[in-house]
Amino acid sequence: MNFKEELDKLDIFERVGKVADELGLETYVVGGYVRDLILKRPSKDIDFVCVGSGIVLAKKVAESFDHHVPLNVFKNFGTANIRLDDWEIEFVGARKESYRHDSRKPIVEDGTLQEDQERRDFTINAMAISVNSSNYGELIDPFDGLKDIKRKLIKTPTDPVLTFSDDPLRMMRAIRFASQLNFDIDPDTFDAIIHDAHRLQIVSGERIIDELNKIIAVEKPSYGFKLLFVSKLLHQFFPEMVELQGVDSVGDKSHKDNFYHTLQVLDNICQHTDDLWLRWSAIMHDIAKPATKRFHPKVGWTFHGHEDKGARMVPGIFRRLKLPMDERMKYVQKLVRLHLRPIALVSDKVTDSAVRRLLFDAGDDIDDLMTLCRADITSKNNNKVQRYLANFDKVEQKIVEVEEKDQVRNFQPPVSGEEIMSIFELQPSKIVGELKEEIKEAILEGQIKNNKDEALDLLYKLAARKGLQKK
Ligand code: ATP
Repeated sequence: MNFKEELDKLDIFERVGKVADELGLETYVVGGYVRDLILKRPSKDIDFVCVGSGIVLAKKVAESFDHHVPLNVFKNFGTANIRLDDWEIEFVGARKESYRHDSRKPIVEDGTLQEDQERRDFTINAMAISVNSSNYGELIDPFDGLKDIKRKLIKTPTDPVLTFSDDPLRMMRAIRFASQLNFDIDPDTFDAIIHDAHRLQIVSGERIIDELNKIIAVEKPSYGFKLLFVSKLLHQFFPEMVELQGVDSVGDKSHKDNFYHTLQVLDNICQHTDDLWLRWSAIMHDIAKPATKRFHPKVGWTFHGHEDKGARMVPGIFRRLKLPMDERMKYVQKLVRLHLRPIALVSDKVTDSAVRRLLFDAGDDIDDLMTLCRADITSKNNNKVQRYLANFDKVEQKIVEVEEKDQVRNFQPPVSGEEIMSIFELQPSKIVGELKEEIKEAILEGQIKNNKDEALDLLYKLAARKGLQKK
């Protein structure tokens, strides 16, 4: 099979081929770029492998341009890369890896192209295309990667048990590629994952979360999560999510399976957002259901307070999973805490003050919260779904009306603590906080408007009651 035509679409391949010919180096484009070329997926990373020094090749390629091309050399890894516009082009010498059982660090030696292909994770990632003039465009595919692309199959090039034992992260990568490409995992490869899942423990959290986030970023992440669950990889790093699985029954009363419900919510939200953290909110929204589950003979199963407990669980889970502990964590925490609040606003009798309070608590994340609530509707009964969605339309309408009137979404106190201190010549003290809080409450309760005049009026009244004099 020849890919000359495809390579000719970009100048870089012929250029690298020419330089490689001059240096007498066998050189190939390899790995993800070849896979994506065949799958017609866009890709901005190109990896070249040569039988010899990748650094020498990279230097000569960089010099071959008549303008300056930035070159980075990583001597320790024997690699170098150049940046051309938004292309990231990497050069490496072909290598062979061997693993000893008493050490996780591979012995890396120079190798042939075939040896380099053998150390790669999957057949679809182990294809190479020559750029030398003698066989420009020729596909070198010793493990039938092309056939596996056609069969939509993730399969290791050599014995899967050995491949995974050499680097257990490859088990996560198998599921990540299956999720991104919508491929199946070859049964022998999947059996080896089940067999070796416990070995994921030796992989760093950073590498695991990288793959997990790529799974969460796909169009329909439930597929990847189901594979993680069935293989028990999920059990190794996210036991709280595993806990969601299962249905308990007492008599004829049972609750829904919260693992599959969560996956449905996640898939739903993915139709409306690419934002990783909103997707994470969907994953976490019911995380405390197992911990708060109770059975009451009269009412059946309840999960009271799961939203608050769930919010409290977020930091610990984020820390362990090496997710960021900054405002992104706080955002997820906030959405988990608030995810039941819009449901409480569905009733026609709901007061403006309840809407104002939600707007105050959610701030600018109110729209994301509504997206989460809509995704949380997973009934199989379409009439019910339509009814619930219509209810949320009404809630959103109320939110718009109240926001137009009162503008409390990003509430800034109309009278600041500084002002209160200066009006009454107070030192920073508890009473200043109390006055501010009472003004805020009055605004949220709708007793006064959210403006300075009404806030000052109230302030004087409150202060008089407390025996304070304007100075
Ligand atoms: P993506 O860019 O979406 O992550 P990719 O296939 O380009 O996909 P990289 O992680 O950039 O993935 O890896 C480039 C190539 O290196 C892969 O196609 C594969 O051949 C090889 N590779 C990467 N990681 C491993 C690994 N852990 N074990 C074996 N081979 C690997």
